[in-house]
Amino acid sequence: MQTTAVRPETSDGWALSPQTKAFLAAGGFGHFIDGEMVPSASGETFGILDPATGREFARCAAAGREDVDRAVRSARRAFDDGRWRNLEPLEKERRLRKLGELVGQNRDLLMDLDVIDGGLVRAYSEFIVKFGQDAIDYYSGWPTKLHGSVPAGPPDVVVQEVREPVGVVGVITPWNGPSAAPAGIVPALACGNCVVLKPAEQTPLAALVVARLCIEAGIPPGVVNVVQGLGEVAGAGIVEHPLVDAIGFTGSGDTGRRIVAAAAPTLKRVSMELGGKSPHIVFDDADLEQAAATVAGAVWGHSGQVCTAGSRVLVQRGIHDELVAAVVARSRDIRLGSGFSPDTQMGPLVSQEQLNRVCRYVDIGKREGAQVALGGARHGEAGYFHQPTIFTGVNNTMTIAREEIFGPVMAVIPFDTEEEAIAIANDTEFGLAAGVWTRDLGRAHRLTQAIRAGTVWVNTYQRVYPSIPYGGVKQSGFGRNLGAASLEHYTQTKTVWLKVR
Ligand code: ADP
Repeated sequence: MQTTAVRPETSDGWALSPQTKAFLAAGGFGHFIDGEMVPSASGETFGILDPATGREFARCAAAGREDVDRAVRSARRAFDDGRWRNLEPLEKERRLRKLGELVGQNRDLLMDLDVIDGGLVRAYSEFIVKFGQDAIDYYSGWPTKLHGSVPAGPPDVVVQEVREPVGVVGVITPWNGPSAAPAGIVPALACGNCVVLKPAEQTPLAALVVARLCIEAGIPPGVVNVVQGLGEVAGAGIVEHPLVDAIGFTGSGDTGRRIVAAAAPTLKRVSMELGGKSPHIVFDDADLEQAAATVAGAVWGHSGQVCTAGSRVLVQRGIHDELVAAVVARSRDIRLGSGFSPDTQMGPLVSQEQLNRVCRYVDIGKREGAQVALGGARHGEAGYFHQPTIFTGVNNTMTIAREEIFGPVMAVIPFDTEEEAIAIANDTEFGLAAGVWTRDLGRAHRLTQAIRAGTVWVNTYQRVYPSIPYGGVKQSGFGRNLGAASLEHYTQTKTVWLKVR
């Protein structure tokens, strides 16, 4: 299989952990099928780029339809012969718990890989790896707790509503938190399903580590497979495959719409965790220091490449100038650089394409009359960095207030009354999340009821926890990740009638 020599250090000289050096030196990055890393049937590969330098540091196998078919058939066989589904629930739990331990032991490797191929900064990669591990810990307790029910029925029968896994699940993930892959697959595994995971082509590496750890944890070969490559080939191949029963997708709205359409001929169940244009609303009675810090963090975190980025900042007019000044003051000296540097506060965007997209939106913002209060341009010449950028004087009809940018761009919109804040917050095609800053409890209740979003945070923002459901309404998607809610997507009930008289 084709591999390229890998530099032992990243090109800007930061040392990698010994685990990472060994992983990268071994090369041969491919698909993971039936418990083994394999190349594409065609031998085709694609380059993996370091977003901090723009340079290719390794290559990975690119799937064709034949490779997708192989992975799906592997998962199908594993599901049909019951090697995982029919394990005792407690034994499933033990092996999933072991997987959590192994992810913990491979923390440095996973963090390094997310920095190299995803451009995450250290603190964020630490959070992402821990989040993946927390999700495993949470779901590893579920196999013994899943149960069906006995509905009331006629006296001559006993009826059972049995809860079963759906079968083979395709999980398609984005590039903004590659090591959170376990959070995508473990709910499906806890229910007894087998999985074909398709990581984003920008960030293929963490999924290979996780798949290998599944084997080490005693999850049988074939239960977790990985196919690598472009969305239109590898992702679409999974969605269209007749032997796949369900899809769990996280990504952009456009791709989500394509997947829903492509899943229609085989009537697959799909869950969609899509984008947002989340309103972050600050009232004049809020704790302004805390609000300013959180408003800034909610857009600069992972350079704005987070679905719940609080990219529309709605500020009550009386505190507008003060809040903007506080956010600008906190953001002006943000240090951009490689995620490996302990000094770096903001990393690069994931790709040239993403950088171009952000630059395009910033130009549109300027053309449509918004004022640049901070930033407004690309940072440096190497890599894909963009300055943290704050637009003021935005109204909610401007393009930068309506479309998801997925970059470090904040649009500040003034409002006068509570009613106006609610109207602006809801005047969007999205409905993923919202934040409200106020000390007035009554107002907090009114806002949480009135805002159409999957999550509303009050006096905090972007908190997640594995037992707490997460997902969107409107064009931010449907279905819920995390919590008991995602078990609904990965199980179905079978009704059994037993005649007893
Ligand atoms: P972004 O636009 O932010 O890169 P996408 O929604 O395109 O995000 O990508 C999220 C995931 O969906 C990636 O793994 C990508 O390869 C995959 N993908 C892209 N296009 C398709 C498609 N037509 N069918 C299935 N998966 C796809």
